[in-house]
Amino acid sequence: MNSSSRKAPTHSSVEAQRRLAYFDEHRDEIVATIRELVEIESPSDNKAAVDEVAEAIAQKFSRLGGEVRFHRAKDFGSHLQVNFGGKSAKPVLLLGHYDTVYPLGTLATMPCRAVHNRLTGPGALDMKSGIALMVHALAGLQEWHGREKEQNGGLPRPVTVLLVSDEEVGSGSSRAITESLAKKAAAVLVLEPSYGRQGAVKTARKGVGEYLVKVSGKASHAGLDFQKGVNAILELARQIEKISRFTDLKKGLTVNVGIVSGGSRTNVVPAEAAARIDVRVARMKDAAGIDKRMRSLRPFNRKCKIEITGGINRPPMERTAGVARLYAQASAIARELGWKLGEAAVGGGSDGNFTAGLGIPTLDGLGGVGDGAHATHEHILISELPRRAALIAGLIEAV
Ligand SMILES: [Zn+2]
Repeated sequence: MNSSSRKAPTHSSVEAQRRLAYFDEHRDEIVATIRELVEIESPSDNKAAVDEVAEAIAQKFSRLGGEVRFHRAKDFGSHLQVNFGGKSAKPVLLLGHYDTVYPLGTLATMPCRAVHNRLTGPGALDMKSGIALMVHALAGLQEWHGREKEQNGGLPRPVTVLLVSDEEVGSGSSRAITESLAKKAAAVLVLEPSYGRQGAVKTARKGVGEYLVKVSGKASHAGLDFQKGVNAILELARQIEKISRFTDLKKGLTVNVGIVSGGSRTNVVPAEAAARIDVRVARMKDAAGIDKRMRSLRPFNRKCKIEITGGINRPPMERTAGVARLYAQASAIARELGWKLGEAAVGGGSDGNFTAGLGIPTLDGLGGVGDGAHATHEHILISELPRRAALIAGLIEAV
């Protein structure tokens, strides 16, 4: 199959079943890779830890013949790029991250264990299983294509892998790298966790913004000088009522005041108060509007000052024609493999938002199937791994 193919995979269902059997045979190896990666804890805020898992992953891609390149970051772990193949065609970009939300030591209470069909552990679902699937899908493709397609590192087409170290904390350090590689790619496959027990892929994600609203008033003694004070908490309470009304569920626009702080003692009229706000937009065209409304907030009480910082930091991933086409290709491959691949629109963002925001066809949620991302019961379903790997391998060929 070549890169100009737009149709469903042309290999027969017999071939699809042969590939599925290959990944069934390699299932324990995929599990072993996930376990190895989960057992190297990698919280976003610990550079040494994240760099360690990056090194282990780099070795795996290097063994497959990939050309490894680290983008060094000072305050975060290094971002890992691996290139397979030359310039014969536009590469497919396999995108993901190796940081997790769990602090060092979490393994003690949340060990990596295979119990019945579940593999547990910090980051097992989000998204160390996705990284393992990349490695094994590429290894499978090399085994099937190796001899006749030497020029692409044994793959049917050029492939670029990008794994970043800061996705869980907003991707500030890696965003420019993600965007520059996406612009050169034919399509972006994001191996973030899939959606639900059936493993649906994600064809739309909301855009995400974060704002800080700070109110300054004037402190005074609540008993002796009550009238000289200007209560910042009261002002903030009024603002919160107003901000919360910006939510428009029909448009998929939500505004959540998630954290408030302020005041010092009950007998002091508070001079300071602040609120942290999460904003989600389903459509790019709503992003500028909500940003403007946030920035236009003015104090109800003129004696107060109000300061607004932040903004929309991930654009929405909308279900464009390019996204829909990728989903159609994925579901055709899944059908040949014998199952029905669903799709979902979700509220959470990923680095796929950046690539889709540039207009590059992006399909997200191709990684592990399971539940409990960022939670103590995080796990993947082991039985889903072989067909997931077969789906990813098929997509790398087809797009
Ligand atoms: Zn993730």
